[in-house]
Amino acid sequence: MDFRFTAEDEAYRTEVREFIRTEFPKVRDGESFTKKLAAKGWLTQSWPKEYGGQDAGHIRQLVYNEEMAYHQAPGQTMGTDRVGPTIILFGTPEQKAEFLPKIISNDLNWCQGFSEPGSGSDLASLQTRAVRDGDSWVVNGQKIWTSGAQRADYMILLARTDPDAPKHRGISYFLMDMKAPGVSVRPLVQMTGQAGFNEVFFEDVRIPANRMVGELNRGWYVSTATLDFERSGIGRVIGGIRTYEQVVAYAKQTPSTRGKGVLFDEQHIRHALADIGLTFAVGRLLSYRVAWMQSQKLVPNYEASMAKTLGTELHQKLARVAINTLGMPGQLMGGPQAPLNGSIANFYLSTVSLTIAAGTSEINRNIIATRGLGLPRA
Ligand SMILES: Cc1cc2nc3c(=O)[nH]c(=O)nc-3n(C[C@H](O)[C@H](O)[C@H](O)COP(=O)(O)OP(=O)(O)OC[C@H]3O[C@@H](n4cnc5c(N)ncnc54)[C@H](O)[C@@H]3O)c2cc1C
Repeated sequence: MDFRFTAEDEAYRTEVREFIRTEFPKVRDGESFTKKLAAKGWLTQSWPKEYGGQDAGHIRQLVYNEEMAYHQAPGQTMGTDRVGPTIILFGTPEQKAEFLPKIISNDLNWCQGFSEPGSGSDLASLQTRAVRDGDSWVVNGQKIWTSGAQRADYMILLARTDPDAPKHRGISYFLMDMKAPGVSVRPLVQMTGQAGFNEVFFEDVRIPANRMVGELNRGWYVSTATLDFERSGIGRVIGGIRTYEQVVAYAKQTPSTRGKGVLFDEQHIRHALADIGLTFAVGRLLSYRVAWMQSQKLVPNYEASMAKTLGTELHQKLARVAINTLGMPGQLMGGPQAPLNGSIANFYLSTVSLTIAAGTSEINRNIIATRGLGLPRA
């Protein structure tokens, strides 16, 4: 087997690296960097030309995503990595004409209104209702854990349109204007101190009927495509490699408190770091497989769940090993005594939610077991 990239792909990798090196430090916020990426057409280069992309191929996109993830740069948005691809698959010609150009130019911020207080893993039990009234749907209910809702212009919304049908068959998928009357957003503060996600409430919110994606009551099947796109990102595996390299470098330079030499000479630290390096190598190949499937026009399903589960659990393991390697000062989030600028304590806290978001590890293991291994449902 030969996993090497072509000379053109490697040349492109160098170009992306150079762009990140020169442009990323110049901007204070991720959003203006993403605008620059949009201007180059890189955010949506793998989309078909007829929808404003460059037909660049998924392997080219993989090289780009890998570099962005490694440098912890915002190389994708919710619009480009899942909403746009979902609209390309299921949207009407009018929806494509209206939304795809604004996603390509990164002029719209999106959020994902799927989970509800009683419906996370069992998403199909969601209760938010949409009732047809003339040319619009009237929505009432509540979402929770909605990432980025406080900045979003639009939401991809799942709502129940037939309460009498079996639960998977009574749901529809909408594009909802977050500024519509009746939408209210309440931020939730996490233990990192940031408000990454929100509660969103709907009170008689009107959505024009032409904003439904896919067929009436078939929204469940549209949403599974969105979730497959979401779980396919290589960032869930590669995103922590730079942190890993920093911890390895720290262990090589820092004197051991338990004896002679440096931390890296302690066997339990060397073995733990070697183990993580090994798993990163496996995760990278799982992610390449997902990208290869996309290049063959296959939709990765349990394959994406494998990469997602391995990558997110690996991040948590890395966080534990890093905290143990750095010792007590590793728990400081800043100040002169904090090793690696306090980044590891922040990393530790932020990795806790990774195995919950985009489907918990248990749910992804169920997908691997049933769809990957063909085991019967429990
Ligand atoms: C950082 C973050 C960002 C998020 N962003 C969004 C967002 O933007 N939009 C959105 O819609 N949602 C978002 N979510 C919500 C996320 O999708 C849900 O939290 C997730 O699906 C789990 O649902 P739940 O929290 O209701 O837990 P529950 O479904 O109540 O699960 C509780 C526990 O039971 C386990 N469990 C449940 N069912 C089974 C089963 N059948 N077999 C085995 N174990 C099971 C779960 O694995 C979990 O450990 C986000 C979550 C996080 C943490």
